[in-house]
Amino acid sequence: MGVPTLAFHCAVCESKDPRDNRTRPSILLAYGGRNVVIDTTPDFRLQAMRARMDRLDAVIYTHGHADHVMGLDDIRPFNMKQRGAVPIYAAADTLAILRSQFAYIFSEGQPGATLPLIDLHTIDGPFDLFGAQIVPIPAMHGAQPVLGFRVGKMAYLTDFSQVSENSKALLVELDDFILDALRYVPHPTHSNVEQSLALVEELKPKRAWFTHICHDLGHAEANARLPEHVRLAHDGLRFEVAL
Ligand SMILES: [Zn+2]
Ligand SMILES: [Zn+2]
Repeated sequence: MGVPTLAFHCAVCESKDPRDNRTRPSILLAYGGRNVVIDTTPDFRLQAMRARMDRLDAVIYTHGHADHVMGLDDIRPFNMKQRGAVPIYAAADTLAILRSQFAYIFSEGQPGATLPLIDLHTIDGPFDLFGAQIVPIPAMHGAQPVLGFRVGKMAYLTDFSQVSENSKALLVELDDFILDALRYVPHPTHSNVEQSLALVEELKPKRAWFTHICHDLGHAEANARLPEHVRLAHDGLRFEVAL
């Protein structure tokens, strides 16, 4: 929902620490002169401006929930500037959600209207993207399947509550593991701090970064309670990884 959370005035929502300002979850992979975004959140336009993202080469989707897809329409300036479609990569069920949520993109519009230009690609296994291998990591988000992604020594797994043993095998020997940790209290469709710490303990990445954090966790206070190699991620956080 983002922090501050609309209509809430708790200590974290009222915090002056900029790291307690959280837009919806997404990451930018920048390599070889390419910009690849995982998910286009409702905050995509502001996030892309903040990152000074002057081109967009591809979008990869984790799943079709509103907080991960609703910024899709804002790719239009990149279509104009780059004079072409942006490739979109998602599992078949997520592509079906995009087709219904954004029906206007796929139907015949008004002549002259500017619609997002996209090329759809179905993810059905690891794929090459501009020289990097993208490995999908299937997981469950309550009853809904989602995809995390591993690229080299980094993996991004948001919006999950269960990870199968097969998927865990794809998450070993990581330098950086970015994973969902919504709050302290258990949640039916998200991993909480305790569960995510247990997964980190099991998979042993060099560093872990918690994301998709709600207003129950204040940045400084929650970080102080975590092991040194596990940190809360924050908006604008950047680091290098080996591809
Ligand atoms: Zn979700
Ligand atoms: Zn989400």
